[in-house]
Amino acid sequence: MGAKILRGDLIAGRILSALGARAAALERKRGYPPALAILRIGDNPASRAYARNQIRIYESRGISVRVAELGSKSTERAALKVLDRLTGDPRVDGVIVHTPLPPAVRFDALIARLPPEKDVEGLTLRNYGMLYYAKTLQELKSKDVFVPPTAQAILMLLRASGTKLAGAAAVVVGRSGIVGRPAAHLLSCANATVTLCHSKTANLARYLRQADIVVCAAGRPRSIKGSDLKKGCTVIDAGTSYVGAKLRGDADAESVRKAARAIAPVPGGVGPLTTAMLLANLLNAAERR
Ligand code: NAP
Repeated sequence: MGAKILRGDLIAGRILSALGARAAALERKRGYPPALAILRIGDNPASRAYARNQIRIYESRGISVRVAELGSKSTERAALKVLDRLTGDPRVDGVIVHTPLPPAVRFDALIARLPPEKDVEGLTLRNYGMLYYAKTLQELKSKDVFVPPTAQAILMLLRASGTKLAGAAAVVVGRSGIVGRPAAHLLSCANATVTLCHSKTANLARYLRQADIVVCAAGRPRSIKGSDLKKGCTVIDAGTSYVGAKLRGDADAESVRKAARAIAPVPGGVGPLTTAMLLANLLNAAERR
């Protein structure tokens, strides 16, 4: 029997409907809609397509989306100026910076300028620090902190899969600040025992073979093979890479489906839920204000 497919898109649809109702209530109360601002720099076609998709989804749920676009020759100073304008707008509830950025603009410099209360991707030192300070999910819940949406989406899919997290052996492949590390931390908060792998990990398969849970977040299409997995594990594939015109995950879907008990696929798994979790963060930001 093949793996159960964890349909993040269906879960996201239900969550987005509820969030749409919250957005409408907020607009009635304060007289203007919740607003997200996106800063995009450069002419990366994938980033442009991603922004278009986000705008379509959020606007259909009653969110006002403003996009500030700068050319690929922009300086960091110019980018910071635009960012300050977005964050200083009293009608903007959350601000995000799309990547990739041109070499002259440092992502860290932009993030350092974001006010934590509008940092709906949870990347400023305050939000990041509070995330890592928490040892359990309960502690995290009691704090006024924005958790990176992709990590939230990964945890939500694991819960939907019915996989027992406490005591499970989890492997996260990829240690970026936006996906791998926060996902590993949330898993640890849920009492899984986590191994965080990366490009210098020697013999990745040795770790994969022992894992009850595998989170793929390396951006290497079809690199995780079913033959390297423990039979009956749960695989959450967060990787997204275009191979030609097709969006592919890090898991080699065909072989992984034979080995795993459940898999969050690409497309239709982590991606749509990330979109929903970002909107949840935005509404939390708007309601707090
Ligand atoms: P990133 O910053 O490039 O990080 C990639 C990570 O993978 C790094 O930690 C890197 O290790 C590791 N890695 C690279 N090659 C490896 C290998 N051969 N074996 C093991 N680990 C390896 O990328 P990211 O921003 O975290 O994104 C990762 C993937 O998730 C991408 O495909 C991205 O498109 C996708 N993503 C999806 C969503 C979503 O909503 N679904 C959201 C964000 C990102 P080092 O640290 O050693 O370099």
